[in-house]
Amino acid sequence: MIEVESGGDIHVQSVEEKPWRDKDLLWLLYIEHDLMQREVAALFGCHRRTVIEWCRRFDIKKPRQADTETRFWSKVNDGDHDECWEWTAALSSTGYGSIYFEGRYQNAQRVAYTLENGDPGDQMILHHCDNRKCVNPEHLYAGDASDNMQDMWDRERHPEPDAVGEKNPSAKLTDDEVREIKQKLADGIHPRQLAGEYGVHKTNIGEIGRENIWTHVEP
Ligand SMILES: [Zn+2]
Repeated sequence: MIEVESGGDIHVQSVEEKPWRDKDLLWLLYIEHDLMQREVAALFGCHRRTVIEWCRRFDIKKPRQADTETRFWSKVNDGDHDECWEWTAALSSTGYGSIYFEGRYQNAQRVAYTLENGDPGDQMILHHCDNRKCVNPEHLYAGDASDNMQDMWDRERHPEPDAVGEKNPSAKLTDDEVREIKQKLADGIHPRQLAGEYGVHKTNIGEIGRENIWTHVEP
């Protein structure tokens, strides 16, 4: 029923035309081989939701990890492997998916990466696709702060108090631009418009306006 090639590729053969209806095979792959639901779905050529549904019907579940995995992917609007899979549950104030995982709230792309590749440690999980809601593991990579200027989530949690203004490696704005922004805010231009104009999140513009950041730049 299962053939493992020397390279590690697995081929499955089932008596069922719809292999996900084959309880023994499902159990073998998901429990015995400890594959993830998305891997089982890929082998069967079906949608992950199909695997979730048939595991439920057959009462096949992994103890702890599986519950987390099921819970996580049930909140994702997933599609083809090259599409963005958007998080459908809670969002952080900065627009990233948010989920309680292993004792704390984490951003969803980090959990997706962890479920797929293991704990990335100190590294940040960044998007290739620029879509903050996306948790498709194919669109995610681990890197450090200088790899990505937009990762508000991690920047908020790991601020660099010693580096201010444009000397901060996370800074997208120059002192001159911040001076312009302050002037435009004073002229009544909406933060959302300025966010688009300068390519930063409107939260940043709001913080500049409230003099919480870039305080060393005189308007
Ligand atoms: Zn994406």
